Amino acid sequence: MARIGFLGLGNMGLPMAKNLLAAGHEVVGFDVVAAARDAAAAAGLSVVAERNALLDGTGILVTMLPAGEHVRSVYTGQDGLLARAGADSLFIDCSTIDVATAREVHGAAAAEGHAMIDAPVSGGVAGAEAGTLTFMVGGEAAAFERAKGCLEIMGRNIVHAGGAGNGQAAKICNNMILGISMIAISEAFTLGQKLGLDPKDLFDISSAASGSCWAMLNHNPVPGLVETAAANRDYQPGFAAAMMHKDLKLAQTAANHAGAATPLGAEAAALYTLFVNAGHGGLDYSAIIKLIQGKQEV
Ligand code: NAD
Repeated sequence: MARIGFLGLGNMGLPMAKNLLAAGHEVVGFDVVAAARDAAAAAGLSVVAERNALLDGTGILVTMLPAGEHVRSVYTGQDGLLARAGADSLFIDCSTIDVATAREVHGAAAAEGHAMIDAPVSGGVAGAEAGTLTFMVGGEAAAFERAKGCLEIMGRNIVHAGGAGNGQAAKICNNMILGISMIAISEAFTLGQKLGLDPKDLFDISSAASGSCWAMLNHNPVPGLVETAAANRDYQPGFAAAMMHKDLKLAQTAANHAGAATPLGAEAAALYTLFVNAGHGGLDYSAIIKLIQGKQEV
C-alpha cells in the first residue's frame, strides 16, 4: 500500500481521497480552506498544516482543484510542488482545466524529471462517492500505467486518450457535444409542444429514431419522460448548469487557440452564460429548456 498525497479536498476531492483510504492506502491531505481540512481529518485522512508537507514520504500526489490558475500556482514556481518533490514523483491532476495550462504544467513536470497525467473526470459527486468516475487521461503511457491502480480505486472507466493535455481535450469535446445536444433536445421538444405534439409521443418516436442521443435518453429535460432525469426533481443536479457553463467556456478557449470553428459550441456557451447570469447555475444543466421556452421562472 502506498502513501498518497491529496491536494484539494472539496466536493469531489474529499470523497475521492476517502476511496483511496478505504482501499488501504495512507492518504495525506491538504486544502487551503480550514473547514475542508477539518472534514478530511474527521474522515480519517492525515491532514498536514501546509501544502508542501504533502510531499514528505509520498511518491504519488493527486490534485483536485477548481481551475487552471490554481493548478499552475501549486505546481510551478520555486516553491511549487514540482520543484520540491522527490525524484521521479508521479502527479495526477484530476481538475478540469484548460488544455493549454495542462500542457504547460506537463512540460514543467517533465523538466523536473517527474511523471504526470491530466485525468479530469465525469460522474460528479455521486460518482466520486461511489468510486465510479470516468477518468479521461492524457500523458505518457508509462505515467498512465503507474497511475492506473490509483484511478481504478476512484473510478470505473479509465481511458488513456493520448499525450499531455488530451484528457482535458477529451473532456471538453465530450461535454461540448452534451451541451449542444441538450439545447437541441430542448428546442425540439418546445417546438413539438407548440405544434400540438404530446412530448411522450415525440419521445417514443425520436428516442427510437435518428434524432435519438444520450442526453435525450438519460437527461431528458421534459418532466415525466425519463424516470431518473433531473427534470423530475425540479431540476436539482445532477450536473449543474454552472459546471456545463465552465466546460463550454473551456471548449471555446481551446477552439480559439487551435483555430477550430465551433459555431454551435459558441452558441451553447452563450446560452448557458445567459442562464447562469440569470441566477440558475445551481440547477441541473437540463433546466436550460426553461430559457428556450421563454419562461421567466425556473
Ligand atoms: P470545490 O470547489 O468543491 O473543491 C476545490 C477545492 O480546492 C476547495 O476545497 C478549495 O478550497 C481547494 N483549493 C483551491 N485552491 C487551492 C490551493 N491553492 N491549495 C489547496 N486547495 C485549494 O470543487 P469540486 O466540485 O470538488 O471540483 C473540483 C474540480 O473537479 C473542478 O475542476 C471541477 O470542474 C471538476 N469537476 C467537478 C464536478 C462536480 O460535479 N463537482 C464534476 C466533474 C469535474
